[in-house]
Amino acid sequence: MSSLNQVLRHPKTLVGTDLDAWFANGGGVGLANALGDPSAILPTLEAAGLRGMGGAGFPIFRKWGFMLPSPRDGGDRYFVVNGNEDEPGTFKDRALLAESPHQVIEGALIAALALDVNQIVLYLNPGATDALAAAETAISQWHPHLDEVAATIGQRIALRVVCSSGLYIGGEETAVIATVEGGFPFPRQKPPFPAQSGVHGRPTTVNNVETVAHVTHILRHGAEWYRNLGLGEAVGTKLYSLSGDVLRPGLYELPMGTTLRELVFTHGGGMLQGKAFKAVFTGGPSNTILTAEDLDAPLDWDSLRAYRSRLGTGAMIVISEGASIVRRVADYVEFFADGSCGQCPPCKIGTRELAGVLRTIDAGRGTQADLAHIEHMCGLLPGSGRCALVDGAITVVDSALAKLRDEFERLLVD
Ligand code: SF4
Repeated sequence: MSSLNQVLRHPKTLVGTDLDAWFANGGGVGLANALGDPSAILPTLEAAGLRGMGGAGFPIFRKWGFMLPSPRDGGDRYFVVNGNEDEPGTFKDRALLAESPHQVIEGALIAALALDVNQIVLYLNPGATDALAAAETAISQWHPHLDEVAATIGQRIALRVVCSSGLYIGGEETAVIATVEGGFPFPRQKPPFPAQSGVHGRPTTVNNVETVAHVTHILRHGAEWYRNLGLGEAVGTKLYSLSGDVLRPGLYELPMGTTLRELVFTHGGGMLQGKAFKAVFTGGPSNTILTAEDLDAPLDWDSLRAYRSRLGTGAMIVISEGASIVRRVADYVEFFADGSCGQCPPCKIGTRELAGVLRTIDAGRGTQADLAHIEHMCGLLPGSGRCALVDGAITVVDSALAKLRDEFERLLVD
């Protein structure tokens, strides 16, 4: 069993919006280290092995590195902290901001130093009212402390909140950019990539809230310290949003690589009403399913590949025996159909069609032909959209069929 190894939710980190308390408890040291040698920020993040916590798990030093070659012509350069977080079962970023927004703001200032950014935007879901209020209060206290960062990059720093539309699709990277520009969150074709042409055509990097908070602690304590927080080959800690049929749902910061069993049965207190564990939707609804045979899976980016699964946002939605997987999958596909922005016909029509067939099967009126139709769409739709929404809808169906096909077949009438 791993020990609790909290960083983002350490008692000394959870100081609320009081900036003096943040500084009194070690806050500001990461930024001071970054100011001392901005050129060491990226190598430190590379050595730490930090990856994007919004779902992709892409190495941060590489993502930030994409923006470095863009010309310094005196124009704006953007760093956007993505707190849209609108997927069922994912609630880590809003909690992090509500509990301790200064670690996120400090991480964004470190990013500004690394990338010569003068425009920092905290992009927040208006429905996360506690996070929004905390971020706004916190930002107002940082303004007198921005001069040193501004002097280092040679430009005045703008630090502000922009509210997202609150729509699910508003969290997609290019939809974030469209919203910050003041438009509807329509995802855009890539290339051009944001690092070259993002907000108003200017170099832009978008990172998830949790990722940015980790940056602060890595710059404060060093890469080796961070790597040692993880289990096995995994590095650092992870916020797992645990929900569903467990006794103690909630937000858990645990060493990266903690097993699913430990998360559900030790920290989550086990199954509600003593029911048997059937499955978990990993990483939110746009992701994969693990079943009882996978309980010893370490929850980290690389280990989960061996289970044909993905960590995603770290959301874990637990399902007990007796609950219908088909119904839950239909709910999630319907969520994506409702969330489609409608630009790509295969996504707009395909997700709706898929949800309808899943509902038919769940109602006990489906046939073998319906199941074959679902499988046909699972082969047809991936990659057909401008963004990954349609792929996410297919992933959850594909994974449910791979893991629990008998649940679908039992409901068929022929
Ligand atoms: Fe919009 Fe769907 Fe196309 Fe994404 S894949 S751009 S959500 S229609």
